Amino acid sequence: MTQILRTRAELRAALANAPRPVGLVPTMGWLHAGHRSLIRQARGENPTVVASIFVNPRQFNRAEDFTKYPRNEDRDVQICATEGVTIVWAPPVEEVYVPGFDTTVSVGAISRPLEGAARPGHFDGVATVVAILFGLVGAEHAYFGQKDAQQVMVIRRMASDLALPTEVIACPTVREPDGLALSSRNVHLTPSERAAAPVIHRALLEAAAQWRMGERSAEVLRETMGRMLATEPKALTEYVSVADSLTLAELEHVDRSALLSLAVRFGPTRLIDNELLEWRA
Ligand code: AMP
Repeated sequence: MTQILRTRAELRAALANAPRPVGLVPTMGWLHAGHRSLIRQARGENPTVVASIFVNPRQFNRAEDFTKYPRNEDRDVQICATEGVTIVWAPPVEEVYVPGFDTTVSVGAISRPLEGAARPGHFDGVATVVAILFGLVGAEHAYFGQKDAQQVMVIRRMASDLALPTEVIACPTVREPDGLALSSRNVHLTPSERAAAPVIHRALLEAAAQWRMGERSAEVLRETMGRMLATEPKALTEYVSVADSLTLAELEHVDRSALLSLAVRFGPTRLIDNELLEWRA
């Protein structure tokens, strides 16, 4: 039976005698097959699985984006029950940011480029809420999607620096058959934007293929992605990046493992995706 809990106290009490290890899957709800795959991996590795559903106001830099974020708790709880989640923690804002709350967790260099540059304050919001979740749940394992590659890096840095005992596990990106990465935001796409959106994955695949064929100029790979995105009039490119996969510093020559990543707008909807190029000496 899946328990639905709302308060910090209830969560702590429920976990006091729960079988270990505990796996944590943080989400903002509107669950899809990407979230399901995280939950399944957690289920396979932990007798107790906690999924949190919390649309975190601190990680939105535009108030409108926060209010428009899709929500359907009943459906999410149903999915969690089907997937065998032990505890759904779906708190009100004041159980996360308790009265007088006055702490911000701010990770340094790794949170500055790419999404950090495009969305000021975003990663402070993410790191702060994840630190609270790690503290409350005390999980041995926490599961995050590689779709948000920089987020995984920011959270790993934070957990390591703050000596938090939760191991951060990255799970592969789940895609639609046409290559579009699943995202709660896809629901906002109009039918014609939805039809155009797979250009994101095509751009990544084209650059990755070029790299595998021996192209080592990061600028050429950026141009390839930009050119592919430009074939789709509905796609407004925010950035394309070829960065060191450890530091996220932009590369000139791809002579090490690299992260191809991009952010593209379709109307008001902003989508991100990435592909890892693994260097084998
Ligand atoms: P969100 O609810 O969007 O905050 O996402 C919750 C978790 O699910 C994050 O760790 C995301 O990286 C992960 N996630 C979102 N979309 C996908 C996807 N398509 N494949 C795998 N993981 C995903």
